[in-house]
Amino acid sequence: MKGKEGPEKLIRSHLISVTPYAYVAPLEAATAESGVTVDRIIKLDGNENPYGCSPKVKRALLEYPFYHIYPDSEQRELRQALQSYVGAPLESIIAGSGSDELIEFVMRLFIDPGDRVINCVPTFGMYQFSTDAWGGRVTTVPRNASFGVDIAAVKRAAAEGAKIVFIASPNNPSGNVTPREDILQLLDLPIVVVLDEAYYEFSRKTLVPLVREHDNLIVLRTFSKWAGLAGLRVGYGVFPDKIAKLLLRIKPPYNVNAAAQVAALESLKDLDYLRGTVKAIVAERQRLFDRLAAFQKLRPSPSEANFILCSVVNHDAQSIYQELKRRAILIRYFNTPLLKNYIRISVGKPEHTDALVAALNDILLK
Ligand code: PMP
Repeated sequence: MKGKEGPEKLIRSHLISVTPYAYVAPLEAATAESGVTVDRIIKLDGNENPYGCSPKVKRALLEYPFYHIYPDSEQRELRQALQSYVGAPLESIIAGSGSDELIEFVMRLFIDPGDRVINCVPTFGMYQFSTDAWGGRVTTVPRNASFGVDIAAVKRAAAEGAKIVFIASPNNPSGNVTPREDILQLLDLPIVVVLDEAYYEFSRKTLVPLVREHDNLIVLRTFSKWAGLAGLRVGYGVFPDKIAKLLLRIKPPYNVNAAAQVAALESLKDLDYLRGTVKAIVAERQRLFDRLAAFQKLRPSPSEANFILCSVVNHDAQSIYQELKRRAILIRYFNTPLLKNYIRISVGKPEHTDALVAALNDILLK
């Protein structure tokens, strides 16, 4: 570029200070660090599905003949198939490259630079990240001691002119569901309520039927967790009519790739299998909870998702995280003002729980 200044001077100035999203490390990094092969790593840090996707998905991906053709930008077949699974009309459903992309779409639709977004922390990091990246401003509303949403504080923030509130239910990382009565109170406010039901299949609690009655409710879902498709990136949202129409006009074309659409469609044809793996995870969640609660130094929080948050007492959470990593067991650890000395463990297969508990015995009782 001619002239004195480089093109970085032309970058939107607010982006320079955005804190990057703290993504989970890829498997390759873990193998390099622990020195074990990929198949020996016990990955309990990403809330992924340890049973993987439906075998029908793998077969369909192998046989699909049209990878050289652009996918349907309007995702008609997928949205058609989602109608009965979701219990909402095709017109109200729009798919994204993971529900992460739908969060970006919500920003694209509503956020002008400086607009306020209410974030009920501790929660999923994308709400803060996307708001920052789009030039919005976050109003932080801390959850209470049992991680419930502080409805009165959200109301105050809304009165000060916020446009959107994000509520993950079950919440990541705490695992609790926000009661329907609380959401109904938020829906009375003059703001958009984005209810993120990424873990719906593990809680079986949904407010999708309310979208029909409330023009300010958006519900987000994903195939990443229950259907084991995190690597293919496919999620969807249920939107009020006017918002859905507008979103279809402004979303990038072909945003859900052909493989992701095929995989999602096949998953919906193999619900019995996938419900079986969800059932196994829910049963294992209880067993994991009981095992963790048996340690004096761990205080697990009840969870309706596929992970358990645990407060660590009289021991350093980071050292547990590191000791487990050395043994090729990956978990998340938090040490923030709101989550001081916590770990989060995704629910794995029974043998993963057994290996984790044996390692924790070693680490905590020695
Ligand atoms: N919402 C919540 C609450 C999540 O925890 C996650 C995944 N960590 C997502 C959305 C993103 O899911 P996806 O893979 O569909 O982008």
